[in-house]
Formats: sequence, structure tokens, C-alpha cells
Amino acid sequence: MRQQQPQRARPLPPGGQCYHLAMSHRGMGAVEQVGVDMSRFRAFPYRGSLLRKIDGHVQEVFHEPISAKVLVERMELVRHIVDEAQRLVPERITFHWQLACKEVDLARQTATFSGPDGALHELRYDLLVGADGVNSRVRDAMAQQVPGFRQRWSGRMHRIDKFFHHVQPPPGSALQTPSSELDASATVLRFYYVDSPPPLTVGLFFIHNHADGTYSGGVSFTRADESEVGVGVGSGGSLRTAADFEAALGGLTMYPQEMRAAIAEQLAARPWYTSGSTLQVSRLTGPRVVLIGDAAHAVSAAFGQGVNSALEDCTVLAEALAGAAGDVDAALRHYERRRRPDAHALGTMDHQAEAFAGFRGKWNLSYWVFQTHMLVNGWLHRLLPGRFGDPGLGPLYVASYGCDER
Ligand SMILES: Cc1cc2nc3c(=O)[nH]c(=O)nc-3n(C[C@H](O)[C@H](O)[C@H](O)COP(=O)(O)OP(=O)(O)OC[C@H]3O[C@@H](n4cnc5c(N)ncnc54)[C@H](O)[C@@H]3O)c2cc1C
Repeated sequence: MRQQQPQRARPLPPGGQCYHLAMSHRGMGAVEQVGVDMSRFRAFPYRGSLLRKIDGHVQEVFHEPISAKVLVERMELVRHIVDEAQRLVPERITFHWQLACKEVDLARQTATFSGPDGALHELRYDLLVGADGVNSRVRDAMAQQVPGFRQRWSGRMHRIDKFFHHVQPPPGSALQTPSSELDASATVLRFYYVDSPPPLTVGLFFIHNHADGTYSGGVSFTRADESEVGVGVGSGGSLRTAADFEAALGGLTMYPQEMRAAIAEQLAARPWYTSGSTLQVSRLTGPRVVLIGDAAHAVSAAFGQGVNSALEDCTVLAEALAGAAGDVDAALRHYERRRRPDAHALGTMDHQAEAFAGFRGKWNLSYWVFQTHMLVNGWLHRLLPGRFGDPGLGPLYVASYGCDER
């Protein structure tokens, strides 16, 4: 085991999951507050969303003000924030891209990392921030070493997703979708239900436009089992080849056939990812350790809250540390007090949202509570429109990643 020497920042390694992230005031506010320049994303705002329902009816929600939101590709955002960190605080951050955290010893305040050559590096820390996502090693260490630490999962990894990037529509083609006239100035995220070859269920195709006229998006399905992704019959085994994907997208005739073929080719070539877990933990902190982001409160994609909450965690933690005048333990107590209720509320909301979106099928209570709400409020809205809002916007809120406007 050897001590790792600090290195200068190097470019990010290639790869990394890349998909769209809707950033609202919360996420944008967190990064802009520390000086990250987001103007290049703001220049092409996220105008709104539409969902084409199974009966062909299209629901649209357009965000106002238009500048409130942006839709960014995850890896593009990561690269941008890393570049900005190097610009803003070049002497204060060191990146070690190739190291993976393997073990944490909370009592000794050490973390062990492995490098690409398999060599282990042990580091001593003052404060360990677990930002290592849904399968966090830091959280595993807390589960083993912090007395009373508990985790509650729901819908664990029950969705599978694949993504495509920057597909160019054929020259001269006009996409027959509502609101396509907005394409030149803003992005619109579109959702369509697609056939789900058994045993996959609830299939969604999503697509959004870029400033350069190309399109990115993906497909997402509920899977029947937890076998290895792409291998098990219920885990994408029924969608393998470009022809399989082209058949699944066959009903999306509003997109030209050449475009669907190019999308299908990318989908066949790319890996499946799993998603859809909701996690609530009993504590966000332990001795000199703190969880942020998905490590602390993994959520599904249903409400588009994950990245915004993760970045907001950073703001709360930074404020707690700044206000504690060097007393790290006091800062962690402050963070725990302020953030745990939000993290738990996020988990509850996400679990409900999954049901609203139909991802967990009809046989769960949340789905029927939601349907009753829609029915009763629909009647009330027709009876007294001045007093009761139109609940019809509800489902699209789920699809539009737009529920946290303040
Ligand atoms: C299809 C999809 C769409 C989504 N859309 C939205 C959206 O519109 N809006 C939104 O707010 N959220 C969305 N989310 C959720 C959002 O992506 C996550 O909540 C967010 O990325 C969490 O950020 P994070 O940094 O905590 O975790 P991650 O983004 O998962 O990053 C964790 C990082 O830790 C690294 N890591 C993991 N283990 C180790 C280890 N042992 N050692 C070292 N490094 C490690 C990983 O490589 C990764 O880079 C979506 C998610 C999916 C799957």
C-alpha cells in the first residue's frame, strides 16, 4: 500500500453515463452561487415538455420564464464544472480520476483507493464526503460502522435505460411534432410511450433537440427481474439488435425513418443502465463523514430531482462548514439537521412520482391515490374552475421534470 501523491488536474477519462438532466433553480443556483459560468447552457433554455399519451393525445407544458431551466447532457455538465473548478480555484482542487474507493475505516479516518494497475493507496482525511452515487462505498462503510445506520430502498434498479446522442435529421425533413417551431431557439423534451416486448413493461422513448439541430434521447423500460442487465430475459434480452429497436420505435412516425434507423443503431450498440431506485437513509453523517447526492438520497428519473438535490446538498454543506468556524463536527450536525428532512421528503415524493408515472404498474396504493386525486379534482375543476386548478397538468409535471418551481 502506498501514499498517493497529489497530481495536477487531468482531463476526464472517456465514458461515463450520459443522458439529459433538467436543471432548475435549485441546481443552477447552487453552481452559479460559487461562480460557475452557466451562460452557455442558459443560451439554449429548456422551453418545455410534451407527452404523447397512448391514445395519441398530446399534453404540453411550457416553462415560464423561459430562462428558468436548462437541459444539459450529464457528461457535458461534469466536464464544464471540472473546467470551471480549474479556472476558479486552480490551486485548491486535485483530481485523481483513475482511483476507485474500496474501503473506508471511519475510526482511523482513512480511505483506501485502487488504481488502474490494481495498486492500493491509503489516504488519511479530515472530512470524507461520500459523493459516489447510488452504489456508494462510503455509505456501505457507514452501514457497517455507524451504529443504528439504516437504509430503506424501494423499486431497486427496476428500470433499464439506453441513450443515443446527436442524431441528425435528414436534410430538408420537418419533424411532425407539436411545437417544433420552437426548435431553433430552445429545447423541448418529448416523451412517447413505446411497445415493450415482454417481459419488459412501461416503455418510454424520450428525445430532445440541441442548438446545432441534432437530437439526443433514449429509451427506458420497467424490467421484470434483477438479473444481469442485457443478459437476463427480463433485462433487455428482448431488445438486442438494431432491427429490434427499430421495430419498437416503429410507431413514432413523426420522426423520419432514416432518423429512427440511426437511433436504433446507436441503441443496439450502447449498454443498458439500471435506474429507478429510491433510497432513504436514517443518517446523512457519521464521524467525520457525510453523504451527498445519490449516495445520500438516490431517486428515480421520474421527477427529475436528483442532480438538483445533489447540487443543493453542496450549498448546504458549504454553508454549514463556513458557519462553523473550523468546527467540522458542529458543521456536520448542522448539515444533518437541515438536510435530513429534505432528503426524506425527496424519497417519499420520488416514490409517489414513480407510481404517478405508471412505472410500478397499477397494483400499488400510490397509483390509486393519484388516480382518485385526478378524478375528484377534475370534477371540482369543471364545477368551480376559479377555485380548483386543472389536475390534468399533473402527469405532465412528472414527465416534464418540472415540479420544483418556487
Ligand atoms: C435516465 C436518467 C435521467 C435523469 N434525469 C434527471 C433530471 O432530469 N434531473 C435531475 O435532477 N436528475 C436526473 N436524474 C438523476 C441524476 O442523474 C442523479 O441524481 C445525479 O446524477 C446524482 O449525482 P451524484 O453526483 O450524486 O451521483 P452520480 O452522478 O451517480 O455520480 C457518482 C460518481 O461517483 C463515481 N463513483 C462511484 N463509485 C465510486 C467509487 N467506489 N470510487 C470513486 N468514485 C466512484 C461514479 O463513477 C460517478 O462518477 C436522472 C437519472 C437517470 C438515470
